[in-house]
Amino acid sequence: MFKNLTKCFTKIIKNISHRGRITEQNIKETLREIRITLLEADVSFIVIKKFIKKIKKKCIGEVINNSLTPGQEFVKIVKKELIKIIGNKNSSIKFLSKKLSVFLVIGLQGAGKTTSIGKLSNFFQKKFKKKVLVTSTDIYRPAAIKQLKIISSKIQVDVFKSHNSETPIDISKKAIEYAKIKKYDILIIDTAGRLHVNKKLMHELQSLNKYIQPTETIFVIDSMIGQDSINIIKNFQKHIFITSIFLTKLDSNTRCGVALSIKYLTEIPIKFIGNGEKIDNIELFNAKKISSKILGMENILSEIKSIKKKFGKKNINKLNTQIKKYNSFNLNDFLKQIYQIKKIGSIKFLLQKLPISSNIKNNILFQMNDSMILKIESIIKSMTIKERNYPNIIKISRKKRIALGSGTTIQDVNKLLKQFKSIKKIMKKIKNIGFIKFFNKIKQMIL
Ligand code: GDP
Repeated sequence: MFKNLTKCFTKIIKNISHRGRITEQNIKETLREIRITLLEADVSFIVIKKFIKKIKKKCIGEVINNSLTPGQEFVKIVKKELIKIIGNKNSSIKFLSKKLSVFLVIGLQGAGKTTSIGKLSNFFQKKFKKKVLVTSTDIYRPAAIKQLKIISSKIQVDVFKSHNSETPIDISKKAIEYAKIKKYDILIIDTAGRLHVNKKLMHELQSLNKYIQPTETIFVIDSMIGQDSINIIKNFQKHIFITSIFLTKLDSNTRCGVALSIKYLTEIPIKFIGNGEKIDNIELFNAKKISSKILGMENILSEIKSIKKKFGKKNINKLNTQIKKYNSFNLNDFLKQIYQIKKIGSIKFLLQKLPISSNIKNNILFQMNDSMILKIESIIKSMTIKERNYPNIIKISRKKRIALGSGTTIQDVNKLLKQFKSIKKIMKKIKNIGFIKFFNKIKQMIL
């Protein structure tokens, strides 16, 4: 899901995010790359135009280069606009409290309606602890009624029996009465797949919708249809008030662009995504989360969480204190620091992905392996206390003695002193915020 988009965006973001200054030319080039990426993903041209225009306007409006991290400011703007375009508001499903909520599920044949009803029922039962009843009003295809029965029995969801001799309104009326008596929380009504040009079936759907007055009318649409799905939804909209979209088959759609176009062009929020044939291949559509995913920031977030957990609050606080007193930071602290960073382990992976300065990312501290650490340890241990506290006094004769004592070379000692200076620089950068805040800041940037 969104793999190609994520791949392209990760590259674009990487190029711009660590910039200390952004020129108009940088913005222009980045926006051009974004435009191409979105076009290739089959996002509607109108949506792309609007999206780019908004970013451009914000970049001019906000004085990006006044920020300490202009590249990251730019990424923030892109993310905010992406969330707006794909629809942040009204994206949660509506339930009636202490009353029966009725969901009418409509769409073309083969869109994935029945499969999605199975997913929804299971989801509502398991995640929301709701009592769910389903029924089918597809009186034209007995196989469809049977399919719903089979899916429901697998997930232990109750089915209200329907027969093809009854009308969809009759079936729904009885199902609603039964659901109320038996105190179900949700009734999901499946309908026959239809095309908007089929007047008879569209009229039937209108009457059914008018009679039921559903809590939600969910339109199921196959994302593989691509741009055409917008017209399909719009044509249905002329006949029936749709409150939410269930976008299916995003797992098999490498382009996925339609997920970014629907809300803007139809004003109907996508509330669910189907990303596989299995019953639990369903996701609530969360614009923030999806934007993070598209921009390649989702992995980083989970990585931050695991680093925080691994490192522990106590250690972070210790590091924090050390960072704060960086002015008196000496080679003993340096050694301790190396041990602590080693514990994090995966920080190297995280830092490479982060939209932060390459100076920090490529700092030797984060590239240490065990043998390097051993060498550093023996060099520092061959120093006098005074040398460890005031590394500036280590000139050539002291270097010779230290190298001899540690079984290393003068070059090794020089290298270590250089590394020490560079970590001091990093600490200067993050000294005011400390490690916990540093992580949180990164998180904020990403979310
Ligand atoms: P209906 O005619 O609208 O009720 O569609 P069905 O529920 O019968 O689904 C049609 C086909 O799409 C079936 O083969 C489903 O397994 C498949 N399908 C439904 N949702 C998804 C999905 O999210 N991903 C994939 N890959 N296939 C799906």
